[in-house]
Amino acid sequence: MSNLFISTSSAPNFILKNNSASSFQKGIVKTRITTFDSPLEECPNPKTQSSVNPLTGEIIYQIRYRWEESLNDFVPVRCGNNSCRPCAHLNAKRIAGAIYVSQPSHTFTLTLVPDNSKAIGKQVQKIFEHARKEIPTLAYVWSAESNPGNTGAHVHGYVHAEKNYFSSIGTTLTNSISKVTLGNRSEVKPIPQDAGISYFDYPMKSVLDPDVFEAYLDLNSSQNRKMLIHSSQKPFWRDGVDGPTYKKRKKLEVIAKRKRQLNYRTR
Ligand SMILES: [Zn+2]
Repeated sequence: MSNLFISTSSAPNFILKNNSASSFQKGIVKTRITTFDSPLEECPNPKTQSSVNPLTGEIIYQIRYRWEESLNDFVPVRCGNNSCRPCAHLNAKRIAGAIYVSQPSHTFTLTLVPDNSKAIGKQVQKIFEHARKEIPTLAYVWSAESNPGNTGAHVHGYVHAEKNYFSSIGTTLTNSISKVTLGNRSEVKPIPQDAGISYFDYPMKSVLDPDVFEAYLDLNSSQNRKMLIHSSQKPFWRDGVDGPTYKKRKKLEVIAKRKRQLNYRTR
């Protein structure tokens, strides 16, 4: 993952204050290239449409195009699949937009999680069931990453805690994590008030790195469904901190794009 990070003392530090990666290397000012800094690569398998050649009767497949307002140009219609890294990059930006609009209050990191998404999901669910005995409203998103050097996996996530639980969520969640996982290390931190949209792509940063992307996708997916992020049953997705909640993330992505005028410069 080293190629995703720049180490420089003059780098902007808006991501750093609560960047869980930085806490493992105290004293080094680090920032990273986000999915919003990196140009989107073209989809290698754009959608096609078929037509019949009236002269020969042959079926012709042609790439489908659509008008992209921000580029003032026609562009090929992407396949949009999470298994396609350039499209996963765009999907990660949209997801980051949906998280940003949902305004979670805290980030959390779990270490030493199981090696597949089903088992990890069960563990995360158990942790939050335990924590909800004290803070009933917790809703969360997470994704898992392999540790560098094949030493297992860890989870990054965001959680909503209401204002009156701000001071207790760290202790509550840390307690629940150590109870459910028998002592794993974890971190719970408030999200900086000035966190911008690019802060929220952090759990999905593997979409930028061809060397780790497949492993990331495998770790987060089931056999039938390629996933970049997972959300709790209790709706995490919402339009603003006190706004209406949505079961489906896609719905919020559309609302976020329209209402907040988020532009991902899709190509
Ligand atoms: Zn694609």
